[in-house]
Amino acid sequence: MSDRIDNTRSGQRSALEEKVLDGKSRLQPDDRFRFSCHPGLPCFNRCCADVNIFLSPYDVLRMRQHLGMGSREFLERYTLLPVQRDMRTPVVMLRMQGEPEKRCPFVTDAGCSIYQDRPWPCRMYPLGLAASRDTPDGWQGERFYFLLDDPGCLGAQQARELTVREWLEDQEVEAYDVWGEAYKELALHRFFEQGGELTPEKMDMFYMACYDLDKLRRFVFDTSLLRKFEVDEDLVEEMRYSDEALLRFGFLWLRFSLFGEPTMRIAGEAAEEARQRLNDRVVVDRKLSRTGPGDAT
Ligand code: SF4
Ligand code: SF4
Repeated sequence: MSDRIDNTRSGQRSALEEKVLDGKSRLQPDDRFRFSCHPGLPCFNRCCADVNIFLSPYDVLRMRQHLGMGSREFLERYTLLPVQRDMRTPVVMLRMQGEPEKRCPFVTDAGCSIYQDRPWPCRMYPLGLAASRDTPDGWQGERFYFLLDDPGCLGAQQARELTVREWLEDQEVEAYDVWGEAYKELALHRFFEQGGELTPEKMDMFYMACYDLDKLRRFVFDTSLLRKFEVDEDLVEEMRYSDEALLRFGFLWLRFSLFGEPTMRIAGEAAEEARQRLNDRVVVDRKLSRTGPGDAT
């Protein structure tokens, strides 16, 4: 079994990941490497079996949209939620099919059947992404890329040479990176660096808001949630049909609810502030009317 790793997203660098990173050259965007992957290679599709693929919320959103499937059905059918003692947030993995080959459910003789919406780790392969922890704030350390070892992968023996930057462009990872950065603000929150742990209820909130978007939509529209916060009306309407808008809202709601960040405005508080501003204004106006315009200094 091999792993497609991005330790900057899971936020939980395991002993296995440390081993994978050990001794690796750190590649920057203009560094070159050799790689080509195509159906003519004897190893074609070999890498789409018995592999650990961690799925970000945006990976799940794209795969699910490609399949036109509800979030609950997708999660139950295609993902695993391994539970480990030191887990800070829910970790979602792509579920491989049964023994003996343990093939990815999306691989076909012609290649990946969800190619346009394949998950980020599949786009990145053979590159992995990590971040140095040698900085005072740890998770915001320098990003670097590295080549994943897979002796059975013949791609690295092909003549084609390209830079890391060219590979990232070719694989269209930009949108994934933007969402990945937003997700890091949750999964690598300083709350965890300071030893915080989520209760089981908060783990469920996290899972719902990141992965089970149909449930989040029901929670947003079928409960009093929207009455408790000031939410832009356009965003509310967008959330009815756009998973991306809903996920954006979910991230903000989690940062507010789990970590106490001021990412949302409570409706009552906002109204109280407005009342206070109005009162202050009335007091100033009364003072001005008593003193007259020429005395207002
Ligand atoms: S070249 Fe590597 S990535 Fe491509 S099919 Fe072969 S094993 Fe998979
Ligand atoms: S999602 Fe596609 S590219 Fe990724 S392992 Fe499955 S078949 Fe291969």
